[in-house]
This record gives sequence, structure tokens and C-alpha cells, in this order.
Amino acid sequence: AYSFAAGPARLPDAVLERARDELFVRGVDGAATLERPFTGDAFRATLAHARERLATLLDLPPGYRILFLAGGAMHQFSLLPMNLLGTARCAAYADSGYWSQRAIDEARRYTEVVIAARYIGATPLAAPTTGRWHLPQGCAYCHITPNETVDGLAYPELPHTGAVPLVADATSCFLATPLDVTRFGLIYASAQKNLGIAGLTVLVVRDELLGRVAPHVPTAFSYRIQAQQDSTYNTPPTAAIHVAALVFDWIADNGGLTALAAANRRKAEGIYRVIDGSGGVYTAPVVPAHRSVTNIRFHLGDTALTERFVAEAEAHGLHHLRGHPRIGGLRASLYNAMPDAGASALAEFMADFARRNG
Ligand code: PLP
Repeated sequence: AYSFAAGPARLPDAVLERARDELFVRGVDGAATLERPFTGDAFRATLAHARERLATLLDLPPGYRILFLAGGAMHQFSLLPMNLLGTARCAAYADSGYWSQRAIDEARRYTEVVIAARYIGATPLAAPTTGRWHLPQGCAYCHITPNETVDGLAYPELPHTGAVPLVADATSCFLATPLDVTRFGLIYASAQKNLGIAGLTVLVVRDELLGRVAPHVPTAFSYRIQAQQDSTYNTPPTAAIHVAALVFDWIADNGGLTALAAANRRKAEGIYRVIDGSGGVYTAPVVPAHRSVTNIRFHLGDTALTERFVAEAEAHGLHHLRGHPRIGGLRASLYNAMPDAGASALAEFMADFARRNG
């Protein structure tokens, strides 16, 4: 059986096996990984390993820090303005769909939000493109959501924001492809898609942005303090960091981000080919150049057919294919850990379903 859930998502088989062996078994110190103090040598070594592995995978340039913070990406929707506004009078946000709108709503509680770009709010959807950006000087940062998990929309290219640091909520695309970190001031992603289990958010931040934190920000939420204290100002999510380290090992052992990107493209193309070749039985609401390779959205003609699809898919061992409750329809999420066999099983089922219902 395969889960196509948008998150928490499937872990790589090898990671699930290592986690079972490593998290729950007590060592000579009388503690299992889950039970070890975060101040001890064992966890310190895990944290250093996770940081170094991730830096290598990202080809991290000098001048950037990696933070491992408790909580999810939505916590960062508030912590970003609290940490990055400094003396600026505004922050710029691109509105590309559900998650960017949630980030915008939260940022408005702290500052004036300038909408730097908007997706075209019609079918087919399209991500903001470089030509239509409005970016006033003086904004503290420009926030984008390069992969909109709910809408199934991905940026085909990154905007150029000049001196304004580019900040990305990369929750559903982090480590799915190589990334030019130098284009960003800050990247954040919660772990439960491509980095392991929920409870952890990874931040990659340019050093010079750490000086902007507002004085009233609670100490545990200060990027600067957490950077100074190696993400251990308070108890970090130790188990989630351990699992993330296992995931980073798995990525390195499987050819790194370039190999993953090729595999992800291949998996997604197999599904989109079935959608586009179904003679209109399935429709994908996003323009081809802006389609996500991770979260594939598609629709069937009516609710009864959609319900039949979900029931038959589950009988074939293909689970969690409903779209986000806000927009309905269907969605297949193919994160890094989805094997080719899972994507092929879904593509074959979809092709057969289309033949029987066309
Ligand atoms: N941003 C994006 C792009 C997401 O996909 C999600 C979750 O699906 C979130 C934010 C919310 O993350 P969390 O639940 O970790 O706060």
C-alpha cells in the first residue's frame, strides 16, 4: 500500500528501519535515542552530523547558518516578521495560493504587507512570473512559497529581488531538487514532507539577517539566540532531528539532490501523462509550466465519480488521494520517499479507471 498524503508523508524505507532500530533501543547509558539529554555528547554529535550533512547536500555557501527549530512552518509565519523586520516599514509577499495567503494574513499582524505579485486567480492557475513583480524599496524581505502544496502550483523560476532578501517557505519542495542557496536570505521548511517527522522546522539563514530581531521577541523564538546557541537554547525536538539526520544520510547515499530531482520529475511525468492522455476524464487545473512535481492536483467530472475513484484506489492500496478540503478534487503527493513503484501503481490505476469511465 502507498500513502499519497500531503503530509506527514511517507519516510524512505531505509530511514523507517534505521529509526526503529535506533530510536527505541536502550544503549549502555541506559537511554534510547528518544530518552537522551540534548546536552549530552550523543545528541550533540547527531546535531552536528545533521548540520554537516545538510550543508553538503545544499552545497551551502559561506555566510549561512542552519537552524533546527521546534514547531512547524506556520510558526515561522509569525517568527519571520518578528525576526526580520528590523526598522523596515513593510514586507513584500507574493500571493500564489493557499499557504502564501496564510503567511500573508499572519504577517499583517506585524507590519504593512505589500503584495509583490499575485497568481492569476482563474483556471488554469499560474505562479507569479518575473515580469509582473512590484517590489518597493524599504521592504524588509520578499516572501514566496515556491511550491504551493494545496494548489499544486510551483514557480518555474525564482524572482530577482535585488537588495531585498528573498525568503521562501520551501516546506513542500525542500530537498526535492538542488537549490541555489545564494539566491535566498532565508529558507524554511517543516520536516514532515521531505525531512522526516513533524515537530521540526529547518531554517537556512544568511548571517547578516540575524541582527534584526525585535527586542520584545521571546528568547526561544529569536533566530539570533538560537544561532548563537546551536539551536539548543531550549530542548530541541531531538527525535525529529535524529530522523532528519537519517533522511539526509539516505539522500546522500542515493545520489544527492540531482538524482532525487530526476526521480521526482520521472514520477510526476508518469501521472501527468495519464491525466493529459485521458481524453478529458481527468483535468489538471494548473498550466503545464507551473505544475508542481510534488503535489499533483487533478479533477474528475463530478463528486460521485470522485468518490468512486477514492474508494477504488483504496481497494488497490492507493491511499490519501483526496484534495485539500478547501478546494476538493484529488491530489497525489509524491515526496522524495515515494518509490517509482508507488507512482507507477497510481499511474496504472488512473489509466485503467479512465478507460472504464471515459
Ligand atoms: N507551508 C506550506 C507550503 C505547507 O505545505 C504547509 C503544510 O502543509 C505549511 C506551510 C504548514 O506547515 P506546518 O503544519 O508544519 O505548520
